[in-house]
Amino acid sequence: MQKIIRNAIKCKRCGEVIESKDCHDFVQCRCGACAVDGGHDYLRRCYLGEDSYIELSETVEVAEEEKK
Ligand SMILES: [Zn+2]
Repeated sequence: MQKIIRNAIKCKRCGEVIESKDCHDFVQCRCGACAVDGGHDYLRRCYLGEDSYIELSETVEVAEEEKK
């Protein structure tokens, strides 16, 4: 499964890097072209056009809990 360690994008219009740090932390860039939400639980993107931001989020592949 994928674990989100950073939920962030950079707006191509205003250059601002925005990061959502909590599942209810909705953050919009200063020009309003894009926004992130979901913190480390899910990656939610709001944007005017798909080309309006650069993806900066990081995920890691973690193994299911080992059974011992
Ligand atoms: Zn912007």
